[in-house]
Parts: sequence; structure tokens; C-alpha cells
Amino acid sequence: MMKRYLLAPGPTPVPPEALLAMAMPIIHHRAPDFLPVLDSAKKGLQWLYQTKNDVLIICSTGTGGMVGSVNNFFSPGDRALVINAGNFGERWTKICKAYNLSIEEIKIDWGFSVKPEDVEAALKKDPSIKGVFVQASETSTGVYHDIRAIASIVRKYDNAILVVDAISALVAHDLKMDEWGIDVLIGGSQKGLMLPPGLAFVGVSEKAWKFAEASKSPKFYFNFKKERESLAKNQTSFTSPVSLIIGLNECLRLLQAEGLDNAFRRHARLAHATREAIKAIGLDMFTKESPSNSVTAISAPKDIDGQEIYKNLRVKYGITAAGGQGQAKGKIFRIAHLGYAGTFDTITAIAGVEMVLKGMGYPVKLGAGVSVAQELLMV
Ligand SMILES: *Cc1c(COP(=O)(O)O)cnc(C)c1O
Repeated sequence: MMKRYLLAPGPTPVPPEALLAMAMPIIHHRAPDFLPVLDSAKKGLQWLYQTKNDVLIICSTGTGGMVGSVNNFFSPGDRALVINAGNFGERWTKICKAYNLSIEEIKIDWGFSVKPEDVEAALKKDPSIKGVFVQASETSTGVYHDIRAIASIVRKYDNAILVVDAISALVAHDLKMDEWGIDVLIGGSQKGLMLPPGLAFVGVSEKAWKFAEASKSPKFYFNFKKERESLAKNQTSFTSPVSLIIGLNECLRLLQAEGLDNAFRRHARLAHATREAIKAIGLDMFTKESPSNSVTAISAPKDIDGQEIYKNLRVKYGITAAGGQGQAKGKIFRIAHLGYAGTFDTITAIAGVEMVLKGMGYPVKLGAGVSVAQELLMV
């Protein structure tokens, strides 16, 4: 037997409280038993999103929330500004193209974050832009984009909304939907929210609902106006993923007991300790600026394949972290700090990295990174 540790940027470990709650017998989604369950999830999500707006609960992975945010607020031919700084920025481009939006991209080298003034310049140059699409945390590069600054720009334009993929950022980063003026904020269940995959969440501002009125793209399963009507009745339009929503209430309860600021601080501490430990081992960050608190992206040493580090962690020590995606494949490996994670997840990951690197012939002094993480995480 090998004990397994899940330290990937999704899916993430699920706390036992949620696992047990999800093991209860299935209740019927149209029966009265379910109404308070959905009501509680709805209110908990508004707390997490720091919003008075509706937060839709969609039965799909996070990408479904992204697709729905393109086909519900826009029409074919609409101009879209996509901030493409990695694999998930690339996904925005692909989805917008699939729905025939007309795209302007701000392409950013992997490892770097967008300059808000570039967003402002693009909007000034082309006032017909109706949507700005960005990631909060670009999971493929470990970069956090300055959502607060971008929101403060987009909110000045009446004919444009800001659509933020916060699937890996939610719970790890403070995202003040109402205060900052984020129009569409997308989350997923299997990352910071500590649930199995299968739910997407979409917070929608009043400004964005006006865009929905004008949208001519085809809709059936992802029909946000219908979901909004269902949500008002504590329902979802189709069969509700009842077990996941019951688990969601448990996770929201755990987060409420911790407090939102404490959850952000916990992620920030683990991410900081990881970055410092990595430097002490003698490795370089792949992320060149504005590192995310969700996941740390580390460059593999010269002549060592990043995929091999990732593979050895899993095969030799039972630690599932992540390799690289797209153009970073082979060059990096990634360690997540997301969700149900604490001090000894980070120390386990660092210890594992040291052991794997030493096993691959890289000159690492065992304990060099671990001791740095220990110092930083001591209470
Ligand atoms: C995980 C992730 C997604 C969504 O992935 P799914 O597999 O559809 O859940 C989207 N964007 C980012 C930034 C992610 O980290």
C-alpha cells in the first residue's frame, strides 16, 4: 500500500465532514427537503463571493461556467478582449471563437501578469469591445492578475463587462465582487471549495444581466436567465446534483467557521512558504511576477524533465502534484495550496521534491527547503 497525497490544482482533497454529508441517501430535488439545502448554498455562495447578486449553481465542471458566460451575455460578432497569459487564457479565446465572437487578444508571455494599463489602452482604442475576459489565477503559470485594478477600469465603460475565471482563485484570493465591480465571477467545486468535480458557480452583476437581455447566442442547457428564475425558487433548472450541493453546504460551513480572511491568509502563508523553500533548494520560480496563492509553478532544473519530477513524486512517494501544460510541459512542475490544505501538506510537498530531485541526481541538500518552510510555518 502507498498512502496518497493530493496536491494538484484541482481536484483537491475533500474534508471528511463533506465526504460524510455526501454519503447520505439521495433526496429528491423537487421535494420540499431540498429547498432549504439550496437556499443555504445560495446564501453561502453570496457570502463567499462577497456579493448581493445571484450566484448561479451549474451542474458542470468549471469550463461549463466559462462557456455559459460566453453564450449568455454576448452575441455572434460581439467584440471581446481576451487576456491570454497561459493555458486558461487560451481557453477563453477558444470558447469565444466557438461562439463566433470577434476577438482581440492581449498576449502575455507565460509567467507574467497583465498590465492593467494595457487593458485600458485596448478599451480606449476599440470602444466597441463588450467583454473583457481574464483569469484571476492563471493555473498553468501560477500568475495572479490584478483583478481589482482591471475591474476599476472596465466599470468605467457602460458597454463592457468584466468576466473573471476565478475557478482556481476562489477561496485562495480575496475577490470582492460587488465592491470592485466584477460583472461575472466564475468558480468551480474541485479547487478552493474542497469538493469533488462537478459544480460551476457563476456570480452575475445587474450590469451583466442587462447584457443577457441582448444576447442572441443559442442557449439550452446553459441558460442563465432560466437558472436565475429557478434559483429564486431554490431550484436548479434540471436535476440538481443534490449530493454535491449538500457537500457544498458543509464546505461553506467549514469556511465560515474559519472566516474568509483567515482562509485567504492560510493560502497566502502556504504559498509563501513554498516559494521560499523552493529558492532554498536552489530552484527558480517559473512565475516571474505576481505569484498566485493557489498554485506555485516551479521551473525544472536544466537537463531535468519537469514531467519526470511530477511523475516521480507520484510513483515513488504517492504525491500527486502537477506537471506543465501547453508550452510549459516538460519545463515545469506545480504544487497547489488549494482548499483543504495546511502546514504539513506544504512540508510534505517540499520534502517530496527534495527527495525526488536528489534521486534524479540533482545536488540538493536534504532538508534545505523543508527547514525554511518549517521556520515560516511555525506558530
Ligand atoms: C481548473 C480550471 C478551469 C476549469 O477546469 P474544469 O476542468 O472545467 O473544471 C478553468 N480555469 C482555470 C483557471 C482553472 O484552474
